[in-house]
Amino acid sequence: MHNAAFAALHIDASYALWPTTLAALPARVASLRDPAIWGANVTIPHKRAVLSLIDAITPAAAQIGAVNTIINRSGILTGDNTDADGLAAALREVGRDHIHAAVILGAGGAARGAIIALAQLGARDIHIAARRAEMAAALANEMAEAVTDSRLTGGALAEGASDLALALGQADVVVNATPLGMAQTPGLPLSTAQVAEIAAAALVLDLITAPTPLLTAAQARGLATMNGLPMLLHQGALAFTRWTGLEAPLAVMRAALDA
Ligand code: NAP
Repeated sequence: MHNAAFAALHIDASYALWPTTLAALPARVASLRDPAIWGANVTIPHKRAVLSLIDAITPAAAQIGAVNTIINRSGILTGDNTDADGLAAALREVGRDHIHAAVILGAGGAARGAIIALAQLGARDIHIAARRAEMAAALANEMAEAVTDSRLTGGALAEGASDLALALGQADVVVNATPLGMAQTPGLPLSTAQVAEIAAAALVLDLITAPTPLLTAAQARGLATMNGLPMLLHQGALAFTRWTGLEAPLAVMRAALDA
């Protein structure tokens, strides 16, 4: 989508994939200081590891505790995070611009961005459910400082978790922030009984960028659904603007992603 955007705006630049091991990460990040490079995206599993390798971070990256976008200005590297704003933009686009209560499945990096996005959209209650309940509780605790207007709770993902059942029944949005449903990790994060507990007016949002069994199960119940492509689009468009100072050509980028 970035290459399509560069072509549409006649910018002589290219975006390429650089698979990087943890051992090679310091050298890779150092290479971004080259004046010919405007910046980079960072993805799993390096979003937190780059924090110690760059010169500054934006308030958004500090709030989430992870970097997904690096900007190079005269050899100074700034780490930013466009995941939360990208997710909020994707929800606004479908009219979900005011959220009361939400459930997040998973307590990893994507869950952190989702908490900020849902809080931005007004969610008063955000329940985090993870297979290791203690990780969900710890994330709720840690992020409470960053989102003072939302009540964060954490608990187990397992069937029979009564706090999760209650939260699913009250949620406007349910976000899958686990990798369950990707080709390499098949399955659903919720059981059939738990899918049946989701409020009828809720949107089920899977951060995975392809159709997933969770979305199929939600659709079978008649629930509104969204996969991770709109978030991917908007976090990318925001990163494009950070690097170029230009408004991103959203329609061009969306068409490239859809293709
Ligand atoms: P992560 O930091 O590794 O966190 C994954 C979370 O899922 C952890 O809480 C993990 O629990 C849990 N999990 C993993 N396997 C599980 C299983 N089999 N059953 C139950 N829970 C399981 O990963 P992430 O960066 O948050 O990414 C999560 C998903 O979001 C990925 O699919 C990623 O592709 C997607 N994502 C999409 C976008 C987008 O733009 N659309 C952006 C970012 C991420 P443990 O701690 O117990 O392992």
